[in-house]
Amino acid sequence: MTDIKMNDEWKPKCPRCRQMNFVTVLDKYMKNTDKDIALVICANEECQTVVGALPYEAVWDQ
Ligand SMILES: [Zn+2]
Repeated sequence: MTDIKMNDEWKPKCPRCRQMNFVTVLDKYMKNTDKDIALVICANEECQTVVGALPYEAVWDQ
């Protein structure tokens, strides 16, 4: 038996507003990076809490 969940069993929530939709945005304001960074943020327009960061290449094709 394994206790690994299937992907659709995970329910990630925003730590601030508890909703479950996220978007990635190209962050133009991050300082001291030589490369572009994508931020994963809450999709709630009143919230927009950053929940993660990824290399540009992990999100968009060049
Ligand atoms: Zn939120």
